[in-house]
Amino acid sequence: SAELDRALSLIRSIPDYPQPGVLFRDITPLLADAAALTTTIDALIAPFRGEFDYVAGIEARGFLLAGAAATYANVGLIPIRKAGKLPRPAAAVSYALEYGTATIEAHDDIPNGATVLLIDDVLATGGTLGAAHDLVSQLGGSVVGTAVLFEIDELGGREAVGDPRLHAVFHS
Ligand code: 5GP
Repeated sequence: SAELDRALSLIRSIPDYPQPGVLFRDITPLLADAAALTTTIDALIAPFRGEFDYVAGIEARGFLLAGAAATYANVGLIPIRKAGKLPRPAAAVSYALEYGTATIEAHDDIPNGATVLLIDDVLATGGTLGAAHDLVSQLGGSVVGTAVLFEIDELGGREAVGDPRLHAVFHS
């Protein structure tokens, strides 16, 4: 739609951030635009409407989208955090980065069998969202799908996540 095209035009591409050779997609101008934000949140969850009891957002930019999506869809919100930030983590999953590893954690605030939609801002290599799938499963949740604002197609993250219902509003 024209509104989504306009929202896409608000994603800023920043060369060589955070490292040389990386083209960073900066979603903050989109977040700052009221109409673009509402249109984007609607498009983010549209394929899954009525199918999820919770959204789980990944720190830090995934929190922003998941917070908006949770109130928009009238469901609860589960924060998935970087290691060491939560007082009572019930599960932790580590995954490989280009250099070293990262760990994500969550509280067990998901009833067994509850349906969860995973949300993040950008899908790059897919390591983060793949780990988030494992984390929600460990907590007894059932992942119904994955929704990202922007998918960097050439990095192959979709295959790494392995979710047949991976939805991206925008692609590179
Ligand atoms: P992955 O694990 O898929 O390689 O990386 C995804 C994570 O890194 C996401 O949580 C995302 O926020 C962040 N990320 C990677 N590349 C970008 C980018 O170009 N822009 C933004 N906003 N985040 C990125």
